[in-house]
Amino acid sequence: MLNIILFGPPGAGKGTQSAYLVERHGLVHLSTGDIFRSNIKDGTELGQLAQSYMNQGQLVPDGVTIRMLESEVDKHPEAKGFIFDGFPRTTAQAEALDELLNDRKAPVSCMLALEVAEEELKLRLLTRAKTSGRPDDADPAVIQKRIDVYNAETAPVASHYADQGKFTGVDGIGTIEEIAERLSAAIPND
Ligand code: ADP
Repeated sequence: MLNIILFGPPGAGKGTQSAYLVERHGLVHLSTGDIFRSNIKDGTELGQLAQSYMNQGQLVPDGVTIRMLESEVDKHPEAKGFIFDGFPRTTAQAEALDELLNDRKAPVSCMLALEVAEEELKLRLLTRAKTSGRPDDADPAVIQKRIDVYNAETAPVASHYADQGKFTGVDGIGTIEEIAERLSAAIPND
């Protein structure tokens, strides 16, 4: 199985690039942000819980996020592999993902990290706000909070996979196609 973690700060282009990787490699795309937003839209209990955190730019607590991710993985027993987009976002989530995938004899293949400077991220998110309808993209204070949370809680997850020899950084500046090529070239044995 090919299990890719697509990593990077808010606005780095994870969602856009996931679409390319899904098409090219026949993987199942699991975006925790998308799953939370679909729960918010459907008015589920999980959606109500997640919404308060998301609107403030904070992380949804690990316990519910990990349980949700596990149940999504188990919905796709026939998958050739997964792209994890927006997960893991904490070291505890990374440990849970490793355990979950190792138990299924399909460990993480690699972490590909899109690298984009902070000023560019802020511009991209404010531009995306015009069409995304996402309240967390429209408010500069919430954008800053998301970037701060990324730096404090999520960035350390890179070392977790670097220590396993599974980390590759990829320049996230360029055309969508150029970045897609860089990502595909960084996937091991494919
Ligand atoms: P972006 O990467 O642009 O911030 P996402 O759609 O991945 O957008 O995430 C939006 C929000 O959803 C996050 O700010 C956070 O509140 C919540 N979220 C998404 N994934 C996770 C996760 N793995 N753990 C905790 N919260 C998450």
